[in-house]
Amino acid sequence: MGRKKIKKKGVRKNRRSREKIKAKKIDPSSPKSESKKELTISAIDDGTVIDHIPSDATFKVADILRLEKHDGVVSIATNLHSKSVGSKGIVKVGGKSLTQDEVNKIAIVAPDATVNIITNYNVKEKIKVKSPDFIDNVVKCSNPVCITNNEQVNTKFYVVKKDPLKIRCHYCERNMGKEDIQII
Ligand SMILES: [Zn+2]
Repeated sequence: MGRKKIKKKGVRKNRRSREKIKAKKIDPSSPKSESKKELTISAIDDGTVIDHIPSDATFKVADILRLEKHDGVVSIATNLHSKSVGSKGIVKVGGKSLTQDEVNKIAIVAPDATVNIITNYNVKEKIKVKSPDFIDNVVKCSNPVCITNNEQVNTKFYVVKKDPLKIRCHYCERNMGKEDIQII
């Protein structure tokens, strides 16, 4: 019985907060309306926001940044509506600035991503990622007999085509597309 009561309370609360939002909405054609929608995940005071990640690469970006080991705030949202990418993901990482190496890795799975450096809740710098020409020790070769899968050899790929991504293994010359990419 007690549980039922709590549930009812929650529903009522939700409805009230939804009404509040509705009442606040003044001009739906306002250019700010899209950024308002993006606030579905909380803002961070200091850190990095990676935006415009294709939805299917959102968790790969989290893997690249090893976010499961990060101590600060991490917010991951995916399958968000985006005018430019269609369906996108956003990753927000509190208390972390990315290295150039990490930015390059992100470019492999999210070539249109933007990296925003946040200081005191404001965007201090906006970086557009750039696909690298070489990929060293980031991607696993999909060829099971490749030397990199059998000996202690770092993987190395050449970027043959940037969009859609096509890379070639330096050792076995296997060509790989976006769908074959597995981050080490
Ligand atoms: Zn290979």
